[in-house]
Amino acid sequence: RALQPQCPPGAAAWAPSLAWLELPAETTWQAGLQVLERLVAELGIAVRCRQDPALNVALGLLTDRLDREARRDAPCHREELLGLVAHVLRSTTVPALLGRSGVRVANPLAALGRRFDHIWVLGLADTLFPRPAADHPLIDSVVRAQWHAAGVTVPDASSLASVEEALFLGAVGGAGLDVVLSRPLRGVDGRTLRPSPFWQRFDDAGVRHEPLPLGSDEERALLLALDGQVPAALEARVAVEVARDAGRPGPHAGHLERALPVAARRWSPSQLHAAGACRFQWFAGRLLHLEEPLDPDRVEDRRVTGLLLHAALDGALQGEGEAGDMGGRTARAHAALDRKVAELRRSGALRPGPLWPVQAEELRRTVTRAVRSPVFVPPGWTPAALEERRDFTLTAGEHTYELTGIVDRVDRTPDGLTVTDYKTGTYVSQVVQNGKLNLEIQLPLYMAALRAANGRYFSIEQAGTIGGAGPAAEGGRRKYSWAQHEQDVTAFLTALGDHLAAGNVAPSPDQAGQACTYCTFLPVCRYRGAAPVEEGQA
Ligand code: SF4
Repeated sequence: RALQPQCPPGAAAWAPSLAWLELPAETTWQAGLQVLERLVAELGIAVRCRQDPALNVALGLLTDRLDREARRDAPCHREELLGLVAHVLRSTTVPALLGRSGVRVANPLAALGRRFDHIWVLGLADTLFPRPAADHPLIDSVVRAQWHAAGVTVPDASSLASVEEALFLGAVGGAGLDVVLSRPLRGVDGRTLRPSPFWQRFDDAGVRHEPLPLGSDEERALLLALDGQVPAALEARVAVEVARDAGRPGPHAGHLERALPVAARRWSPSQLHAAGACRFQWFAGRLLHLEEPLDPDRVEDRRVTGLLLHAALDGALQGEGEAGDMGGRTARAHAALDRKVAELRRSGALRPGPLWPVQAEELRRTVTRAVRSPVFVPPGWTPAALEERRDFTLTAGEHTYELTGIVDRVDRTPDGLTVTDYKTGTYVSQVVQNGKLNLEIQLPLYMAALRAANGRYFSIEQAGTIGGAGPAAEGGRRKYSWAQHEQDVTAFLTALGDHLAAGNVAPSPDQAGQACTYCTFLPVCRYRGAAPVEEGQA
């Protein structure tokens, strides 16, 4: 057919006489069928069957029938064999809609006009099948008649009812051997459902009154529950759900029966941010390992952009000789960017799309702007350490935190050692303090780890500083006190340690619910913003 587009479709493609099929005038049934097998193999049909299950089924049906109807080793004439092939081609039918296990689940429309050996019609309850038909509330019979005259037909209630009827008759009429009609006794809400008018049309003829055997233990439990005999195990589960829904404290609402001492795990600033934004969010993600269904492409794009920009800025200062050599710094940043691009492409993390040349140019410009910014390495600053992983320990109240963090850069400055954390954009994550998501903890943690005097965030895309911590951040228009900031961070770590020691991982987002904005654990935590979260000492 590929070579001859005019080739007729279906069995007609074989040509009625099958004269083209080269068979000896005198042969045996088996030898004749072997010719057909060779044809199937050499035309590549057998190979295609491996990729095409429907073709495989069709070919299997054809060869099975030929095998069954041929008389094995008995001799035969060419015409007899061709007659058999033509007969089998004409009379073998292939199920058009195959489902797993040979059962096809179809709505009445999909089943219409098809033929099945056995048909089971489900849902013959009033309002389910047929569905209630009603006239469109905004289109009366006059408008309908006008539209009809203009060629637009909007079916009225009686036409819709006829359609439902046709669907039912079509479903029943498609049964080759038998048809089973069934109806649900109750709806999903437990309400008793009346039989459908279609069901009543059969009167009691053939209707089984004895109960059908139950399919599973769950079905048995469901029937018992609907009759008011709720099994004890189910009662307990219902009680849990009711309590959770009512927002009552309990293990399922984040009030665990065991402590989660902070000293028992290694923390990272991002874990502390998660726990500080909402303890349940941290618990669900880090301890229960629930995963948020994020859009992988969007997340990956942003993550890869961050990796590339961070690598470029790190490379800009690697091996810098004379301070402030802008040309050399930019060239090193671009070279580091190229190296990282190659590395991420090799690992498969970066999959350039059609817009990649534009994106790459944009990245290059962003890097150039950032490293040429006067605040990238302000006058008097000397980079003392570049990107480095640090393990450190912090104590807050009775709690000891073992932490690991990656510090982007440390500089010697006139104000003392200063930590710089690169941010891709302008977002700086914060934790909840006094019901608001407004406490920044990452810089104070790194400053404590390195005994640095100050810290700052440098936005690569903005090519500027977007926040700081330490005495150097005081003054200016911002009402900021480093002593207060330190105290707040210690208070946060102490309170978090207390809550976890009490096994309290109940939802604790900020009052405005900002922490919940992009959190997909809501169906699990069932937090209702209306009820303020108790943030007292555990
Ligand atoms: S939806 Fe809100 S309350 Fe629930 S886990 Fe997420 S942040 Fe916490």
